[in-house]
Amino acid sequence: MSAVAEVLPSDLHHSAPRGSDLPACAVCADTMIAAEASAFLMDGVISYLWTCETCGYGFVTKHAVRRMICS
Ligand SMILES: [Zn+2]
Repeated sequence: MSAVAEVLPSDLHHSAPRGSDLPACAVCADTMIAAEASAFLMDGVISYLWTCETCGYGFVTKHAVRRMICS
């Protein structure tokens, strides 16, 4: 089982634009291509599990998703 570190969403609001906000590995700086898994945490927050294919480092990112819902 690989080690998984949780990354606090400190860079969610000043990172790359939506659709190209791929994270980079904290160990080898390789760019993640696709999340291994995703989980809906609470209203508007989605957690992604990333695993680096180069070094195997795993981490989790959380993304706030603003849904356009008119009730
Ligand atoms: Zn890596």
